[in-house]
Amino acid sequence: MRALRFDNRFVRELPADPEPDNHVRPVHGACYSRVMPTPVKAPHLLAWSREVAEILGLDEADVRSAEFARVFGGNGLLPGMEPYAACYGGHQFGNWAGQLGDGRAITLGESINARGERWELQLKGAGPTPYSRFADGRAVLRSSLREFLCSEAMHHLGVPTTRALSLVGTGETVVRDMLYDGNPRAEPGAVVCRVAPSFIRFGNFEIFASRGEEALLERLIDFTIARDFPELAAETDAAARRIRWFDEVCRRTAVLVAHWMRVGFVHGVMNTDNMSILGLTIDYGPYGWVDDFDPEWTPNTTDAGGRRYRFGNQPYIAHWNLWQLANAIYPVVREVEPLERALAAYAEVHDASYRDMMRAKLGLAEWRVGQEGDDGLLERLHRLLAAGEVDMSLFFRRLAEVDPAAPALEPLAEAFYDPARRATADAELLGWLREHGARVLAEGQPAAARRAAMNRVNPLYVPRNYLAQQAIDAAEAGDTAELETLLEVLRRPYDEQPGRERFAARRPDWARDRPGCSMLSCSS
Ligand code: AMP
Ligand code: MG
Repeated sequence: MRALRFDNRFVRELPADPEPDNHVRPVHGACYSRVMPTPVKAPHLLAWSREVAEILGLDEADVRSAEFARVFGGNGLLPGMEPYAACYGGHQFGNWAGQLGDGRAITLGESINARGERWELQLKGAGPTPYSRFADGRAVLRSSLREFLCSEAMHHLGVPTTRALSLVGTGETVVRDMLYDGNPRAEPGAVVCRVAPSFIRFGNFEIFASRGEEALLERLIDFTIARDFPELAAETDAAARRIRWFDEVCRRTAVLVAHWMRVGFVHGVMNTDNMSILGLTIDYGPYGWVDDFDPEWTPNTTDAGGRRYRFGNQPYIAHWNLWQLANAIYPVVREVEPLERALAAYAEVHDASYRDMMRAKLGLAEWRVGQEGDDGLLERLHRLLAAGEVDMSLFFRRLAEVDPAAPALEPLAEAFYDPARRATADAELLGWLREHGARVLAEGQPAAARRAAMNRVNPLYVPRNYLAQQAIDAAEAGDTAELETLLEVLRRPYDEQPGRERFAARRPDWARDRPGCSMLSCSS
């Protein structure tokens, strides 16, 4: 732990809430409130990421020390830590929600590692803050484990994301009504230490715009550019600098969402307070992984009515969210046209990234645009996958094993959920495989190289909801071995791992409608 060195620019350079007391309130004229984590009864290490520890310069002895569990459970600070909760607002489910803020997240500090990189350490579930509104500031083990596991899995999949250093059990229980159906129960509590260069969200800017606090808005934008986008800081014209920054945010977000579509990730709550200014996946709540391919699917029961955040809608929602950010920063840019251009760039970059990723998933060297070309080919495939109830990950992974000269469905057999639906989809899917096979042969790529390239973008192992749920069930019973094994498997999502076939299996029938596996709520 001696390795941890802090340089806390956010608290040093931005205005603080002058009120020292930790009670719930509206906070005006400030970017954050200083607040201490609330100690817990018996902090103990449940899991940790060796890659993130390594980034921070911590070794196994550090992580397994009693001091580590104490600090990362919220019971103490290391020298140099200056804890705070950030003030932000957000559009929730399409409506402006006013002040939200870090209601249960507390940043401990900005650590500078041996390579000079800045990594913010943030506890989630560390107790109440001035932004806790009506809630307790805590998090249950099931949701903390899901965040810990998925952020690391996303990183290994090559998807931009916040990271997670540790999962610490609190030795306390937290009461939650998981399905909001009047059945609250006491669940074990846990704290995740999340790690990212910055946890600033769209909502951090929106809150000041909504209140007409333009000076503060300007300060936060220029701070963000200086600290997190140093390559843009050289531009001396303030409006031009801010426009270039917004353009960069649009581009990063476009790539991010294309990755989600590539791997079958559904965020579940794409409110603007859950959108990272760095284009990272942030705030893992009722997220889910597509099992059978279905653009209409959302894991979030809280959103079951409108399905605003369903799988297939994510590219549009990200665009909508960027519109809100554009509106928020307009007062300190005062030019509409360049903001509109950046929003148009979002669509262009998203489409180009998406096509390129799909090209790679299908094993093609080039993408022929248009309905007569590969856009049409992909659209027909998506329709068939949805109609035939076909597992997305297994289909794309096994597509590499289909012989383009003699296409057959056998290599794809394990991807089907329902024999009856398979029977009706069979003929058409075979037709599609022939079309695809002809396309592949015409390109003439060497087969082995093509298969290897496909396997580098089509993951075999993803943290399917039922797998996470099995790790949760075991962890709640005191056994973290399943979580450790799962994390180990997810470190190499693109490599066949002999003996670990069960982690690649499609969702079993028992998990189809089980809470936690296909149904999740915001209660966490
Ligand atoms: P979410 O949509 O889950 O990211 O959360 C929306 C807002 O509610 C954020 O301001 C969170 O900090 C806050 N929040 C969520 N859960 C809790 C909790 N248990 N205690 C305090 N605040 C919370
Ligand atoms: Mg959030």
